[in-house]
Amino acid sequence: MALLPIVRVPEPVLRQKTKKVKKIDTSIQKLIDDMIETMYAAPGIGLAAPQIGVSLRIFVVDLSLGHKAEDLMVFVNPEFVELEGMQLEEEGCLSVPGFNATVARPMRAAIRGLDRHGTMRTVEGKELLARAFQHEMDHLDGRLFLDRVRGIKRDLIVKKIRKMARAGKW
Ligand SMILES: [Zn+2]
Repeated sequence: MALLPIVRVPEPVLRQKTKKVKKIDTSIQKLIDDMIETMYAAPGIGLAAPQIGVSLRIFVVDLSLGHKAEDLMVFVNPEFVELEGMQLEEEGCLSVPGFNATVARPMRAAIRGLDRHGTMRTVEGKELLARAFQHEMDHLDGRLFLDRVRGIKRDLIVKKIRKMARAGKW
């Protein structure tokens, strides 16, 4: 396994719509292993392939940060089956490190996708898990949580990042 560098905004790959994985072969499985290791090392509760510079529909999630094996989930070519309700919570992103903002999202999300062995299954999440699913699904469509933040707050974060980038601190 290998740790991969996590790309940050405004890296263009974060804005691309990802491509479906045609076949889960050994190279895809290695990519998944590397994504899991990179997510744990960050540490983060989710990581999507564009965040390591790969424009494919894959993401990994683990709310336990590696402490409970059953919490680790891999999704290849996922799609929403259901979205319901509303929650308002703070959210952050490994590609926008150091910044959090409140984001409104559905309270419950069910997604359907392949696991690492190519088996199709549907998983339903509530609260933080539903939020993680939606955050990572956004990445697969080239969207960031910042896009869902109110204008003034978003402008402030974007300005701070530009300033840090100019100073070579981003
Ligand atoms: Zn993110």
